[in-house]
Amino acid sequence: MRKAWQGVVLAVVLGGSASGPVQAASVPYGMDDFARVPKFDAHVHANVDDPAFLEQARQDGFELMSINVDYPDFPSIADQHAAATALAKADPARLHWAATFSMDGFGQPGWADRVNAGLAQAKSEGARAVKIWKNVGMIEKDADGRLIMLDHPGLSPVAEQVRALDLVLIGHQGEPHNCWLPLEQMTTDNDREYFRNHPQYHMYLHPDQPSYDDQIATRDRFVAAHPGLRFVGAHMGSLEYDVDRLGAFLDRFPDASVDLAARMSQVQYQSLRDRGKVRAFFIRYQDRLLYGTDLTVNPDSDPAEFRRSAHDVWTADWRYLATGESQRVDTLDADVPGLALPREVIDKVYYRNAVRVFGTAARD
Ligand SMILES: [Zn+2]
Repeated sequence: MRKAWQGVVLAVVLGGSASGPVQAASVPYGMDDFARVPKFDAHVHANVDDPAFLEQARQDGFELMSINVDYPDFPSIADQHAAATALAKADPARLHWAATFSMDGFGQPGWADRVNAGLAQAKSEGARAVKIWKNVGMIEKDADGRLIMLDHPGLSPVAEQVRALDLVLIGHQGEPHNCWLPLEQMTTDNDREYFRNHPQYHMYLHPDQPSYDDQIATRDRFVAAHPGLRFVGAHMGSLEYDVDRLGAFLDRFPDASVDLAARMSQVQYQSLRDRGKVRAFFIRYQDRLLYGTDLTVNPDSDPAEFRRSAHDVWTADWRYLATGESQRVDTLDADVPGLALPREVIDKVYYRNAVRVFGTAARD
Protein backbone atom coordinates (compact mmCIF):
# COMPACT_ATOMS: atom_id res chain seq x y z
CA MET A 1 0.00 0.00 0.00
CA ARG A 2 2.63 2.48 1.07
CA LYS A 3 4.81 1.85 -1.97
CA ALA A 4 1.91 2.21 -4.38
CA TRP A 5 0.88 5.49 -2.76
CA GLN A 6 4.41 6.91 -2.87
CA GLY A 7 4.49 6.09 -6.58
CA VAL A 8 1.39 8.20 -7.10
CA VAL A 9 2.93 11.19 -5.36
CA LEU A 10 6.15 10.78 -7.32
CA ALA A 11 4.18 10.77 -10.58
CA VAL A 12 2.39 13.95 -9.51
CA VAL A 13 5.69 15.62 -8.65
CA LEU A 14 7.26 14.63 -11.95
CA GLY A 15 4.20 15.70 -13.93
CA GLY A 16 3.71 18.94 -11.96
CA SER A 17 5.30 21.38 -14.34
CA ALA A 18 3.59 19.96 -17.42
CA SER A 19 0.10 19.63 -15.98
CA GLY A 20 -0.40 23.06 -14.47
CA PRO A 21 -1.47 24.44 -11.12
CA VAL A 22 -4.28 21.96 -10.35
CA GLN A 23 -1.91 19.03 -9.99
CA ALA A 24 0.83 21.18 -8.50
CA ALA A 25 -1.55 22.14 -5.67
CA SER A 26 -2.05 18.46 -4.85
CA VAL A 27 1.63 17.97 -4.13
CA PRO A 28 1.99 17.88 -0.33
CA TYR A 29 4.22 20.27 1.52
CA GLY A 30 7.82 19.24 2.13
CA MET A 31 10.21 19.91 5.00
CA ASP A 32 11.45 22.98 3.09
CA ASP A 33 8.02 24.56 3.55
CA PHE A 34 8.02 24.15 7.34
CA ALA A 35 9.41 27.51 8.44
CA ARG A 36 7.55 29.65 5.90
CA VAL A 37 3.96 28.31 6.22
CA PRO A 38 1.96 30.15 8.94
CA LYS A 39 1.30 27.84 11.88
CA PHE A 40 -0.44 27.99 15.26
CA ASP A 41 0.33 25.76 18.22
CA ALA A 42 -3.05 25.81 19.95
CA HIS A 43 -1.88 24.19 23.20
CA VAL A 44 1.30 25.25 24.94
CA HIS A 45 2.24 26.38 28.43
CA ALA A 46 4.57 29.39 28.54
CA ASN A 47 4.77 29.52 32.32
CA VAL A 48 7.58 32.01 32.66
CA ASP A 49 8.27 35.48 31.29
CA ASP A 50 11.29 34.44 29.25
CA PRO A 51 11.70 35.21 25.53
CA ALA A 52 12.89 31.69 24.56
CA PHE A 53 9.49 30.32 23.55
CA LEU A 54 8.60 33.39 21.50
CA GLU A 55 12.01 33.42 19.82
CA GLN A 56 11.62 29.80 18.70
CA ALA A 57 8.02 30.43 17.60
CA ARG A 58 9.22 33.38 15.52
CA GLN A 59 11.98 31.32 13.93
CA ASP A 60 9.68 28.38 13.12
CA GLY A 61 6.66 30.43 12.03
CA PHE A 62 4.26 29.73 14.91
CA GLU A 63 1.67 31.68 16.83
CA LEU A 64 1.00 30.25 20.29
CA MET A 65 -1.98 29.69 22.55
CA SER A 66 -0.49 29.59 26.04
CA ILE A 67 -2.92 27.93 28.41
CA ASN A 68 -3.03 28.68 32.12
CA VAL A 69 -4.06 25.63 34.11
CA ASP A 70 -4.73 24.75 37.73
CA TYR A 71 -1.98 22.10 37.80
CA PRO A 72 0.03 21.57 40.99
CA ASP A 73 3.26 20.85 39.02
CA PHE A 74 3.07 24.32 37.40
CA PRO A 75 3.68 27.76 38.96
CA SER A 76 0.66 29.27 40.72
CA ILE A 77 -2.27 30.45 38.59
CA ALA A 78 -1.29 34.04 39.45
CA ASP A 79 2.28 33.48 38.25
CA GLN A 80 1.08 31.79 35.03
CA HIS A 81 -1.27 34.71 34.45
CA ALA A 82 1.55 37.20 34.95
CA ALA A 83 3.78 35.30 32.48
CA ALA A 84 1.01 35.10 29.87
CA THR A 85 0.12 38.79 30.02
CA ALA A 86 3.79 39.85 29.93
CA LEU A 87 4.53 37.65 26.90
CA ALA A 88 1.35 38.79 25.14
CA LYS A 89 2.41 42.38 25.70
CA ALA A 90 5.82 41.62 24.22
CA ASP A 91 4.36 40.08 21.04
CA PRO A 92 0.58 40.42 20.90
CA ALA A 93 0.25 39.06 17.36
CA ARG A 94 2.08 35.85 18.25
CA LEU A 95 1.28 35.04 21.87
CA HIS A 96 -2.36 34.41 22.75
CA TRP A 97 -3.45 33.05 26.10
CA ALA A 98 -6.15 31.21 27.98
CA ALA A 99 -7.08 32.04 31.56
CA THR A 100 -8.14 29.55 34.18
CA PHE A 101 -9.70 29.54 37.64
CA SER A 102 -9.32 27.76 40.94
CA MET A 103 -11.87 25.29 42.28
CA ASP A 104 -11.02 26.39 45.84
CA GLY A 105 -14.23 27.27 47.63
CA PHE A 106 -16.48 25.55 45.10
CA GLY A 107 -19.91 25.03 46.61
CA GLN A 108 -19.55 27.95 49.01
CA PRO A 109 -21.55 31.15 48.51
CA GLY A 110 -19.90 33.59 46.14
CA TRP A 111 -17.60 31.09 44.41
CA ALA A 112 -19.15 31.40 40.93
CA ASP A 113 -19.46 35.19 41.21
CA ARG A 114 -15.80 35.44 42.16
CA VAL A 115 -14.69 33.15 39.33
CA ASN A 116 -16.90 34.96 36.82
CA ALA A 117 -15.53 38.35 37.81
CA GLY A 118 -12.03 36.95 37.32
CA LEU A 119 -12.94 35.69 33.85
CA ALA A 120 -14.37 39.08 32.86
CA GLN A 121 -11.15 40.69 34.07
CA ALA A 122 -9.08 38.17 32.06
CA LYS A 123 -11.13 38.93 28.96
CA SER A 124 -10.46 42.64 29.41
CA GLU A 125 -6.75 41.82 29.65
CA GLY A 126 -6.83 39.95 26.33
CA ALA A 127 -7.59 36.32 27.20
CA ARG A 128 -9.10 34.35 24.30
CA ALA A 129 -10.11 31.23 26.17
CA VAL A 130 -10.56 29.59 29.56
CA LYS A 131 -9.12 26.24 30.55
CA ILE A 132 -10.95 23.72 32.70
CA TRP A 133 -8.72 20.85 33.70
CA LYS A 134 -9.07 17.21 34.65
CA ASN A 135 -9.04 18.10 38.35
CA VAL A 136 -12.76 18.47 37.59
CA GLY A 137 -13.85 14.84 37.33
CA MET A 138 -10.73 13.31 38.85
CA ILE A 139 -9.50 15.26 41.89
CA GLU A 140 -11.79 17.95 43.28
CA LYS A 141 -14.42 16.85 45.80
CA ASP A 142 -17.50 18.56 47.15
CA ALA A 143 -18.34 19.06 50.85
CA ASP A 144 -19.78 15.53 50.96
CA GLY A 145 -16.57 14.03 49.62
CA ARG A 146 -17.97 13.27 46.17
CA LEU A 147 -16.00 13.98 43.02
CA ILE A 148 -17.10 17.16 41.28
CA MET A 149 -17.89 16.12 37.73
CA LEU A 150 -17.99 18.52 34.77
CA ASP A 151 -21.80 18.41 34.54
CA HIS A 152 -22.20 19.50 38.19
CA PRO A 153 -24.85 22.27 38.22
CA GLY A 154 -22.49 24.47 40.24
CA LEU A 155 -20.23 24.79 37.18
CA SER A 156 -23.05 25.92 34.88
CA PRO A 157 -22.83 29.65 35.72
CA VAL A 158 -19.13 29.60 34.87
CA ALA A 159 -19.75 27.87 31.53
CA GLU A 160 -22.46 30.44 30.78
CA GLN A 161 -20.08 33.26 31.65
CA VAL A 162 -17.45 31.85 29.27
CA ARG A 163 -20.09 31.80 26.54
CA ALA A 164 -21.42 35.26 27.40
CA LEU A 165 -17.90 36.70 27.26
CA ASP A 166 -17.47 35.07 23.83
CA LEU A 167 -14.47 33.13 25.07
CA VAL A 168 -13.57 29.55 24.17
CA LEU A 169 -13.72 26.83 26.82
CA ILE A 170 -10.78 24.45 26.54
CA GLY A 171 -11.72 21.30 28.42
CA HIS A 172 -9.35 18.56 29.42
CA GLN A 173 -11.53 15.89 30.95
CA GLY A 174 -10.60 12.33 31.60
CA GLU A 175 -7.36 10.91 30.34
CA PRO A 176 -6.15 8.91 27.37
CA HIS A 177 -7.84 5.54 27.08
CA ASN A 178 -4.54 3.98 28.12
CA CYS A 179 -5.03 5.42 31.62
CA TRP A 180 -7.58 2.69 32.39
CA LEU A 181 -5.26 -0.10 31.23
CA PRO A 182 -2.36 -1.80 33.02
CA LEU A 183 1.03 -0.32 32.07
CA GLU A 184 1.99 -3.30 29.89
CA GLN A 185 -1.18 -2.99 27.81
CA MET A 186 -0.77 0.72 27.02
CA THR A 187 -0.21 1.45 23.34
CA THR A 188 2.50 4.13 23.70
CA ASP A 189 5.63 4.53 25.83
CA ASN A 190 4.87 8.16 26.66
CA ASP A 191 1.62 7.15 28.40
CA ARG A 192 3.41 4.29 30.13
CA GLU A 193 6.01 6.70 31.47
CA TYR A 194 3.49 9.38 32.52
CA PHE A 195 1.27 6.97 34.44
CA ARG A 196 4.24 5.17 35.99
CA ASN A 197 5.33 8.57 37.34
CA HIS A 198 1.81 9.77 38.23
CA PRO A 199 0.08 6.74 39.82
CA GLN A 200 -2.48 9.10 41.35
CA TYR A 201 -3.86 9.66 37.82
CA HIS A 202 -3.50 6.03 36.65
CA MET A 203 -7.11 4.96 36.83
CA TYR A 204 -6.37 1.27 36.35
CA LEU A 205 -5.08 1.47 39.93
CA HIS A 206 -8.26 3.20 41.13
CA PRO A 207 -11.21 1.03 40.04
CA ASP A 208 -13.46 2.83 42.54
CA GLN A 209 -13.15 6.02 40.45
CA PRO A 210 -15.31 6.93 37.42
CA SER A 211 -14.61 4.80 34.37
CA TYR A 212 -13.32 6.07 31.05
CA ASP A 213 -16.84 5.95 29.61
CA ASP A 214 -18.21 7.81 32.67
CA GLN A 215 -15.75 10.64 32.02
CA ILE A 216 -16.58 10.85 28.32
CA ALA A 217 -20.35 10.64 28.88
CA THR A 218 -20.16 13.39 31.52
CA ARG A 219 -18.20 15.67 29.21
CA ASP A 220 -20.69 15.01 26.42
CA ARG A 221 -23.63 15.85 28.71
CA PHE A 222 -21.91 19.10 29.63
CA VAL A 223 -21.29 20.11 26.00
CA ALA A 224 -24.88 19.20 25.11
CA ALA A 225 -26.15 21.36 28.00
CA HIS A 226 -24.33 24.47 26.71
CA PRO A 227 -25.20 24.97 23.05
CA GLY A 228 -23.37 27.87 21.48
CA LEU A 229 -20.40 27.48 23.80
CA ARG A 230 -17.24 27.22 21.70
CA PHE A 231 -15.66 24.13 23.21
CA VAL A 232 -12.21 22.78 22.41
CA GLY A 233 -11.58 19.28 23.68
CA ALA A 234 -7.93 19.28 24.70
CA HIS A 235 -5.86 16.23 23.77
CA MET A 236 -8.31 15.09 21.08
CA GLY A 237 -11.14 15.23 23.59
CA SER A 238 -9.64 12.17 25.33
CA LEU A 239 -10.88 10.16 22.33
CA GLU A 240 -7.37 9.90 20.90
CA TYR A 241 -7.40 6.11 20.66
CA ASP A 242 -10.10 5.85 17.99
CA VAL A 243 -10.61 8.29 15.12
CA ASP A 244 -14.08 6.79 14.52
CA ARG A 245 -15.17 7.62 18.05
CA LEU A 246 -13.67 11.10 17.82
CA GLY A 247 -15.46 11.63 14.49
CA ALA A 248 -18.77 10.69 16.14
CA PHE A 249 -18.12 13.32 18.87
CA LEU A 250 -17.42 16.01 16.26
CA ASP A 251 -20.53 15.01 14.29
CA ARG A 252 -22.66 15.29 17.40
CA PHE A 253 -21.31 18.67 18.56
CA PRO A 254 -20.92 21.15 15.70
CA ASP A 255 -19.61 23.91 18.01
CA ALA A 256 -16.79 21.71 19.29
CA SER A 257 -13.24 21.30 18.04
CA VAL A 258 -10.34 19.32 19.42
CA ASP A 259 -6.64 19.97 19.72
CA LEU A 260 -4.02 17.34 18.97
CA ALA A 261 -1.76 18.20 21.90
CA ALA A 262 0.43 15.42 23.28
CA ARG A 263 -1.49 12.71 21.44
CA MET A 264 0.35 12.46 18.11
CA SER A 265 1.73 9.04 19.00
CA GLN A 266 -1.80 7.68 19.47
CA VAL A 267 -2.67 8.99 16.00
CA GLN A 268 0.50 7.39 14.66
CA TYR A 269 -0.34 4.12 16.41
CA GLN A 270 -3.57 4.07 14.41
CA SER A 271 -2.05 5.18 11.10
CA LEU A 272 0.60 2.44 11.34
CA ARG A 273 -2.29 -0.02 11.24
CA ASP A 274 -4.56 1.81 8.77
CA ARG A 275 -2.95 4.86 7.22
CA GLY A 276 -5.80 5.43 4.77
CA LYS A 277 -8.38 5.58 7.55
CA VAL A 278 -6.47 8.12 9.64
CA ARG A 279 -5.72 10.24 6.57
CA ALA A 280 -9.41 10.20 5.61
CA PHE A 281 -10.29 11.30 9.17
CA PHE A 282 -8.07 14.39 8.90
CA ILE A 283 -9.53 15.26 5.51
CA ARG A 284 -13.13 14.77 6.64
CA TYR A 285 -12.70 16.79 9.85
CA GLN A 286 -10.23 19.33 8.44
CA ASP A 287 -12.26 22.25 9.88
CA ARG A 288 -12.43 20.84 13.42
CA LEU A 289 -8.86 19.91 14.34
CA LEU A 290 -6.32 22.29 15.90
CA TYR A 291 -2.64 21.47 15.82
CA GLY A 292 -1.13 21.55 19.32
CA THR A 293 1.74 20.05 21.28
CA ASP A 294 1.59 20.71 25.06
CA LEU A 295 5.13 22.13 24.90
CA THR A 296 5.81 23.60 28.33
CA VAL A 297 8.44 26.00 29.58
CA ASN A 298 8.69 26.37 33.35
CA PRO A 299 10.86 28.63 35.52
CA ASP A 300 13.44 25.83 35.92
CA SER A 301 13.60 25.02 32.18
CA ASP A 302 16.88 25.63 30.36
CA PRO A 303 15.93 28.10 27.58
CA ALA A 304 18.37 26.76 24.97
CA GLU A 305 17.40 23.17 25.65
CA PHE A 306 13.73 24.10 25.50
CA ARG A 307 14.18 25.81 22.14
CA ARG A 308 15.85 22.70 20.73
CA SER A 309 13.10 20.42 22.00
CA ALA A 310 10.35 22.72 20.68
CA HIS A 311 11.97 22.79 17.25
CA ASP A 312 12.36 19.00 17.30
CA VAL A 313 8.72 18.38 18.24
CA TRP A 314 7.40 20.89 15.71
CA THR A 315 9.48 19.54 12.84
CA ALA A 316 8.70 15.90 13.70
CA ASP A 317 4.96 16.62 13.69
CA TRP A 318 5.24 18.54 10.42
CA ARG A 319 7.12 15.61 8.88
CA TYR A 320 4.30 13.29 9.96
CA LEU A 321 1.23 15.39 9.09
CA ALA A 322 2.43 17.43 6.11
CA THR A 323 4.90 15.18 4.30
CA GLY A 324 5.05 11.58 3.17
CA GLU A 325 8.42 10.97 4.79
CA SER A 326 8.88 8.15 7.28
CA GLN A 327 10.46 8.78 10.66
CA ARG A 328 11.41 6.82 13.74
CA VAL A 329 8.91 7.30 16.57
CA ASP A 330 10.53 6.13 19.79
CA THR A 331 7.32 5.98 21.84
CA LEU A 332 6.01 3.40 19.36
CA ASP A 333 9.42 1.84 18.62
CA ALA A 334 8.48 1.99 14.93
CA ASP A 335 9.08 3.81 11.65
CA VAL A 336 5.96 5.81 10.89
CA PRO A 337 5.19 7.04 7.35
CA GLY A 338 3.85 10.59 7.10
CA LEU A 339 0.23 11.31 6.18
CA ALA A 340 1.11 13.82 3.42
CA LEU A 341 -2.17 15.65 4.02
CA PRO A 342 -3.30 18.01 1.25
CA ARG A 343 -1.93 21.52 1.59
CA GLU A 344 -5.36 23.05 2.18
CA VAL A 345 -5.94 20.60 5.04
CA ILE A 346 -2.57 21.43 6.58
CA ASP A 347 -3.32 25.16 6.25
CA LYS A 348 -6.53 24.69 8.25
CA VAL A 349 -5.31 22.26 10.90
CA TYR A 350 -2.10 24.21 11.39
CA TYR A 351 -3.46 27.73 11.28
CA ARG A 352 -6.82 28.78 9.97
CA ASN A 353 -8.96 26.74 12.35
CA ALA A 354 -7.21 28.17 15.41
CA VAL A 355 -7.54 31.73 14.11
CA ARG A 356 -11.26 31.16 13.54
CA VAL A 357 -11.98 29.36 16.81
CA PHE A 358 -10.00 31.73 19.03
CA GLY A 359 -10.83 34.85 17.02
CA THR A 360 -7.22 35.96 16.96
CA ALA A 361 -7.26 37.59 13.52
CA ALA A 362 -9.10 40.70 14.69
CA ARG A 363 -7.49 42.04 17.85
CA ASP A 364 -9.24 44.81 19.68
ZN1 LIG B 1 -1.56 21.06 28.50
